[in-house]
Amino acid sequence: MQRSFKDPKPTLYVVSTPIGNLRDITYRAVDILNQVDLILAEDTRTSSVLLNAYQIKKPMMSYHEFNKEDKTDQILALLDEQKNLALISDAGTPGINDPGYEIIKSIIEHGYHVVSIPGASALLAALVTTGLIIQPFTFIGFLPRKQSDMKKSLGDYVQRKETLVIYESPLRIKKTLDILFEILGDRKVAICRELTKTFETIIRTSLAETQHMEHNTKGEYVIVIEGNLNPDFQSEETINDHVIRLIESGMNEKDAMKAVSVERHIPKSEVYQAYKIDSKKT
Ligand code: SAM
Repeated sequence: MQRSFKDPKPTLYVVSTPIGNLRDITYRAVDILNQVDLILAEDTRTSSVLLNAYQIKKPMMSYHEFNKEDKTDQILALLDEQKNLALISDAGTPGINDPGYEIIKSIIEHGYHVVSIPGASALLAALVTTGLIIQPFTFIGFLPRKQSDMKKSLGDYVQRKETLVIYESPLRIKKTLDILFEILGDRKVAICRELTKTFETIIRTSLAETQHMEHNTKGEYVIVIEGNLNPDFQSEETINDHVIRLIESGMNEKDAMKAVSVERHIPKSEVYQAYKIDSKKT
């Protein structure tokens, strides 16, 4: 049991920092960064901008993806010397698609305290602006880069009812939206770009619509996708009527057939055949 304040021990403070707008830091985060003996930073150069802005003069040590294993013993030795440490990442909450998990786990295993100093994180900042159902939601983070792995991974979420939150790089945004549409079918989506910054943009649309849009290849993106609100498709509606309904709601023929195939979990060729045969009859 950790009694963070009643039973003080050397502590690692996991401190959230802004995701773009330098003002998005809490008073408590600034206090803690001023109080600790050392700040572990993902990139000391990036973090020095923040520390300078708040006149925080504390030594930093780099702690990132590529040195995290080498640093563990050194960090534990500092706690053994009764030092208090803060962990920050380049943006948002450390550990959320950022380094942190391994050192947090080791510190807990060695009996020291880990205390959260909550603040900005892109996933929550995005989720609450979308107008999509907020809970339950699943935070996926970055999908695998390789397209076949991405498709396979998304396959696990097709039937899930909860809202999905994905981080994506601007260079892959278009391809990822294509794959999301292919695997999840047509659903509402919010594309949240550059949150808290001057060029903040939130596009609330559908995955089918995203296929016809230009996507800015600069900036940072969170994609929030509606869950499957109609799992295990059951309907009296024929395949043909289903395609026509989607076309009448504004989708083009090709996208409508694709969406029907995903929603009904049947091959595209089956939808194509049923639609073409039935539409000839009418
Ligand atoms: N630790 C961070 C957090 O708590 O959100 C996430 C770090 S992860 C390496 C960086 C990714 O977070 C970006 O590629 C983007 O998907 C998302 N992100 C970070 N800042 C963002 C912002 N201002 N607007 C939109 N997405 C952002």
